[in-house]
Amino acid sequence: MRIAVISDVHSNLPALEAVMEDIGRADPDEVWCLGDLVGYGADPDACTALVRDVTEYCLAGNHDLVVRGDIDVDYFAAAAGEAARWTAKVIGPETRDYLAGLSPLGERDGVGLYHASPRDPVWEYVLSVSQAAECLEGQRQRVCLIGHSHVACYFHTNGEGTVGEPAPPGTEVDISSGKWLVNPGGVGQPRDGDPRAAWLLLDTDRWTAEYKRVEYDVERAAGSIRAAKLPRQLADRLYEGH
Ligand code: ZN
Repeated sequence: MRIAVISDVHSNLPALEAVMEDIGRADPDEVWCLGDLVGYGADPDACTALVRDVTEYCLAGNHDLVVRGDIDVDYFAAAAGEAARWTAKVIGPETRDYLAGLSPLGERDGVGLYHASPRDPVWEYVLSVSQAAECLEGQRQRVCLIGHSHVACYFHTNGEGTVGEPAPPGTEVDISSGKWLVNPGGVGQPRDGDPRAAWLLLDTDRWTAEYKRVEYDVERAAGSIRAAKLPRQLADRLYEGH
């Protein structure tokens, strides 16, 4: 099966629309989302509706859990907390209902799906090889997909040590042997220095993972954030991709 994997949409509609256009050209069998549909950006209802319509499987992220009231907003840093409070106030009942039905972990087609990490699906940022090694050792599935850090990267072990690499666009990884943690990067707020929206094409017949990046209208997304009077830095960071 060929699957388009998206994560961390964060209410950024121009980014999500651009990614979905690119995914449409790739014509995958399914679309999976690793969570954080909302938070930070200014279009929570439209993004949630689009994700709901296009995905066969979708997780909840920490921002979704805060907005639906399952996590205390005080766990969030100032700007994230402000955006979460704003989101909880403005979303409609359909968004609320959809988010309420999502879990931060799951499995599909034999692939483990975790918003953050296999051992802590809600909070852990897997960015170091030592962390990844511990996750890989404990994970039940051979291949796991994670989001949360908004950094396109992968970690791998063949039983003798663990390697981790950033994954610039065009990277195609053969994941047919050993254990893997694969992060597609973020759609709505990339943090690896590349402001373009990220997604991943996973092939579970050939076991390959192909990293994609798409230009989108950053000015439109940032403008909506400013117009909603959300914290200014949430708009500014989109231009830099960090
Ligand atoms: Zn996120």
